[in-house]
Amino acid sequence: MNVLVINCGSSSLKYQLIDMDGEKVLAKGLVERIGIEGSLLKHEKTGLDKLVIEENLKNHKDAINLVLKTLLDAKYGAVKSLDEIDAIGHRVVHGGEKFACSVVINDEVIDTMKENIGLAPLHNPPNIIGIEACKEILPDVPMVGVFDTAFHQTMPPVSYIYPLPYELYEEMKIRRYGFHGTSHKYVSERVADLTGKSLEGTKMVTCHLGNGASLTAIKDGCSFDTSMGMTPLEGLVMGTRCGDIDPAIVTFLMDKQDMTAEQVDNLMNKKSGVLGISGVSNDFRDIEAEAEKGNKRAQLALDKFAYTVKKYIGSYAAAMGGLDYIVFTAGLGENSSSARKEICDGLEFLGVEIDDEKNKTRGKEAEISKDGSKVKVFVIPTNEEVVIARDTKEFTSK
Ligand code: ADP
Repeated sequence: MNVLVINCGSSSLKYQLIDMDGEKVLAKGLVERIGIEGSLLKHEKTGLDKLVIEENLKNHKDAINLVLKTLLDAKYGAVKSLDEIDAIGHRVVHGGEKFACSVVINDEVIDTMKENIGLAPLHNPPNIIGIEACKEILPDVPMVGVFDTAFHQTMPPVSYIYPLPYELYEEMKIRRYGFHGTSHKYVSERVADLTGKSLEGTKMVTCHLGNGASLTAIKDGCSFDTSMGMTPLEGLVMGTRCGDIDPAIVTFLMDKQDMTAEQVDNLMNKKSGVLGISGVSNDFRDIEAEAEKGNKRAQLALDKFAYTVKKYIGSYAAAMGGLDYIVFTAGLGENSSSARKEICDGLEFLGVEIDDEKNKTRGKEAEISKDGSKVKVFVIPTNEEVVIARDTKEFTSK
């Protein structure tokens, strides 16, 4: 069975065609600048060089048509006919409370996704546009929606309720949802594979540290608490997002600086985080390089980031009543040994002991804790596409 995994952003589309017999990636790629001048597709057939196609793409439908044409290409393609695409799995950012697991997409599901737009105005519309475009082009191919929020639907009320008037939860569904669910799920399941032990009875913190960053407390293999909230703005210090701040700062800025809600939203989402503190960049590589040259604000941004992750790990260990595993994943978590070290330094009291030699690893699965460390620490590259493909296979064969 071949599953096409699609992840639509506002002006981009990532895809992977996966043969589920052995979970082999046949081809993958990225379309950028959809609807903007200079749109292009970067495609890679496994085992061949990258192919770049520059073509004017007005919208996501154009983009999907180009992807399908490329997948049929005699040299770079991976299938001879579109009939060889058995199902399509779509990443959908916000499933609200309605979607606690993946779902086969029909018109009713699309309508419900549209009702959730208010909860994720930046992310959900492009996801839905991608779904509708696929439905138009390949009406007979079954599609499954896989939600970033679904894994976190096991959180207990004490984790997801905000201390606001309860009616806001009942009437407007204002609560913690959490994101990066497919990533947290994937890496936690890999821990079970790597240790050869069930997750039943275990306590784990998974750290998805990329441009967007979130931590999840996982108890018995299920999400117990997570740092992102109703939106992906809450929690850790991120590339450009502020994470946790005193909520009164919002009204203070509106009042004192005459800022509109949209301006404050933009400031917190796009101009804050490590970019805001350092003034250098949102990319940790640039900030690490500047800090090494002695830039104090760059160092402060790195320190604040690591300090916040450390605080969350400690609080989740307390909330779960212990800790057995820590997992690092995503761009920074997989690649930056200095960030991992700074985060884990000082957590020895919890039983976390990093092996500096093992911690030099980059971008591949490894255990980086010392042999006798009570808490086992892993680096596990995330693979959200395979989770989407697995769910697509499972839900279409039901
Ligand atoms: P997202 O999907 O949220 O854009 P990624 O998981 O791709 O994020 O992570 C991207 C981030 O990872 C980059 O902004 C960069 O800061 C960080 N990163 C990637 N490689 C390295 C590295 N070798 N050292 C430090 N940071 C890195």
